[in-house]
Amino acid sequence: MRIFDTTLRDGEQTPGVSLSLEQKLEIARQLDKLGVDIIEAGFPIASLGEKKAVTEIAGAGLNLQVCGLSRVIRADIDACLDCDVDMVHTFVSTSDVQRIYTIEKSREEVVELAVDAVEYIKDHGRACMFSAMDATRTEIDYLNNIHRAVEEAGCDIINVPDTVGVMVPSAMYKLIERIRETVAVPLDVHCHNDYGLAVANSTAAIEAGASQVQVTINGLGERAGNADLAETVMILHTIYGAETGVRTEHLFETSRLVEQCTGVRVPQLMPIVGENAFAHESGIHTHGVLVRTDTFEPGGMTPEMVGHKRRIVLGKHAGKHAVKQAIESAGFVVGEEQLAEILDRIKELGDKGKPVTDSDLYAITESIMGVVARNEQFIDVKEVSVMTGNIITPTAAVKACVGGDTRVVANTGVGPVDAALGAVQSLLGEGTKVRIHDFKLEAISGGSDALAEVTIAVEDETGRIVNARAAREDIVMASVEALVNAINRLIMVRGGGRA
Ligand code: MN
Repeated sequence: MRIFDTTLRDGEQTPGVSLSLEQKLEIARQLDKLGVDIIEAGFPIASLGEKKAVTEIAGAGLNLQVCGLSRVIRADIDACLDCDVDMVHTFVSTSDVQRIYTIEKSREEVVELAVDAVEYIKDHGRACMFSAMDATRTEIDYLNNIHRAVEEAGCDIINVPDTVGVMVPSAMYKLIERIRETVAVPLDVHCHNDYGLAVANSTAAIEAGASQVQVTINGLGERAGNADLAETVMILHTIYGAETGVRTEHLFETSRLVEQCTGVRVPQLMPIVGENAFAHESGIHTHGVLVRTDTFEPGGMTPEMVGHKRRIVLGKHAGKHAVKQAIESAGFVVGEEQLAEILDRIKELGDKGKPVTDSDLYAITESIMGVVARNEQFIDVKEVSVMTGNIITPTAAVKACVGGDTRVVANTGVGPVDAALGAVQSLLGEGTKVRIHDFKLEAISGGSDALAEVTIAVEDETGRIVNARAAREDIVMASVEALVNAINRLIMVRGGGRA
């Protein structure tokens, strides 16, 4: 099964998304590492910048094939040829509604334009993919006519776009079956997610014999987006037992790179790559997965397979097995009675509507076990000052006692919070590398004097993640306190705890 990624074309058409040339190249390289077969790098006629980006991607020496998009217009095709792409993807509206109201051409004229475009592309020695745009709302006899005509003109592959996402899987299956009875060229599908069925429709098309599928990272694309690459590929590999060239262990990092470049956040509940895709909180489920992961996970698909991590979240649904494991992994040894008390306190916090951070868990454990609050915090911040504004680069200076030494560092950043957090990280020096894995800032009450609550997760070089929270009226101080708290906890856990 061939995977055609259109993150850089349909995905970039996501309202509000626009990528720089460097970002497009970076994503193209990542898709190459991921092992997709072919990417649609852009629509070269759209702008000079777009043409330059497609040219650079086509010339970047990647293993994957590069495709450019064109209408059935010679100038569009010439722009693709100028970029030296491997394949030109040419499309024209075929549904009555689009044909009559947008391009204002007769059915016969549309067939002529399509045949001319395909012949022109083939005369220039390029692979050609043809799309009857809005195919799923096109009258079937006419759709078959145009498909026969482009096949005869030498088209290498026909894409069947569900342009406005109106199909259901059973209808998609029948449509692909009928198209296969009409033409012999390989078929590809392009599904949109207007009803949340893009992936289901894509897999139905594959069942009916399509041999290539169009997808995007994080399901980006026009309106509700396209079929998501990670979901489609994992269904193919682990439910259908089909093969693709995708190296699934890079799925998570690819999703995060595209999230970062586009600014479109991956929903927490997103399958495969969402924060919660392999997270468990309820006592029944966590007990199960701690014994054997396939008790409450699909089994055929593990977080390791997609480069993600399993996460046990503590909260009001937590059970004692999960709490015990979390406490013990921090080096504490607790008895049954203490464990029951700790569990009660966690549930109390959960009932107040708060997520329970690692730092909360350790503080509760220490207080119940009677561990004296340690004053040997690894980092003890003494002074923080920040300068910000539109005439200076945001700069922060932090003075702190670090492992017994007094240190002062200054650091610049994109804003005061970034500058201050960078300063705290550089306090650690070369020996300890800590990366900020997650940062959430929330204004608890309305108004400019709102209490700011910051939750930060930090990760060390071994992949251990610890999170902590702090609330202050000053967002810089709340951020610094949360980070210092998380780092101190991380160092405590690495040192094996104090029980
Ligand atoms: Mn589309």
